[in-house]
Amino acid sequence: MKKIVALILSIALFITAVDAFSVQGETVHAAKPVVVVIDPGHGGNNLGTDYLPIAEKFYTMQVALYMKEELETYENVEVYLTHTDDIDMGLDERAEFAKSVNADFLFSLHFNMSLSHALYGSEVWIPSTGTLYSRGYSAANEFLMQFEQVMGLFNRGIKTRIGSKGTDYYGIIKQCSLRDIPGIIVEHCHVDNINDCANIQSVDKLREFGVCDATAVARYFGLVKKDGSQDYRDYAPLAVPVPQDRVYDDTTSPVYLKAKLLNYNNISRYATVELNALDEESVLQYYAFSTDNGLTWSPLRPWNKGENTMTVTVNIGYGKKDTLLFQVMNLYDKPTNSNLLNL
Ligand SMILES: [Zn+2]
Repeated sequence: MKKIVALILSIALFITAVDAFSVQGETVHAAKPVVVVIDPGHGGNNLGTDYLPIAEKFYTMQVALYMKEELETYENVEVYLTHTDDIDMGLDERAEFAKSVNADFLFSLHFNMSLSHALYGSEVWIPSTGTLYSRGYSAANEFLMQFEQVMGLFNRGIKTRIGSKGTDYYGIIKQCSLRDIPGIIVEHCHVDNINDCANIQSVDKLREFGVCDATAVARYFGLVKKDGSQDYRDYAPLAVPVPQDRVYDDTTSPVYLKAKLLNYNNISRYATVELNALDEESVLQYYAFSTDNGLTWSPLRPWNKGENTMTVTVNIGYGKKDTLLFQVMNLYDKPTNSNLLNL
């Protein structure tokens, strides 16, 4: 009897230990299969982004099918799609489906566009509280690493968004959170920007997205390929502490951007400028310049990640006023302009 009690106790302790670990990336190698629900964003009358002749709902379904196919080359994983036909499906229905199959995670696949058409890159939206935040952040990090390292896409970061009611703004995240399922929105790239659009214009690229998505999930859960060619059991995804309070989005612009002219060549029309910016709530992400006092802007360029100061060289071309204005944008695309430089 004592032996049995001891055994039960040790099993309980083991389960507790695994649980504590699970918030830090879920490298759980349990016998129980991992249950992954892939949610192809939109469908039916809900087209999603329809900036291009082919609507977003087509791309999300294609990538979801490739993701499932690739993920099923791994052991110990059950993969479901919320829908496989081109149908209207509510966000609560998608989350309810995930609950009905005991999902460990729901990944909602999307493609992005911006009203200005200036933004480019990949981003992931995650739940704003507790272990759902930690697990969401850790998994999101795997997706963004794949897109950046394999496909060369710009990493636009991991974000929360809080609605007017003080809870998660995005329906699928909110509906999954209500059911205690981590659900994240993967925005693969911007279909309306020249930097990104080649990534949706061939079957090969859509398949690459699907493989990246599956690889991200395999790394996050520490999966092993059936043919043994890939083994992520010893891979440690990013450990993310569980936040005590809700993690809010940054709704304000960077505090300042100062531009200092270091050098200007009147013949070649190149100007070298030191930029110094501050945002206390989120990282700086892009910068742009204007030679017509902010009427039009250059394409966005990446800001040096994690830094406040960077030196840039820009060509102002011919027939422009001899002034330069800069703009910096933070993680949430909120802009701040610099002082005007007279060349
Ligand atoms: Zn979408």
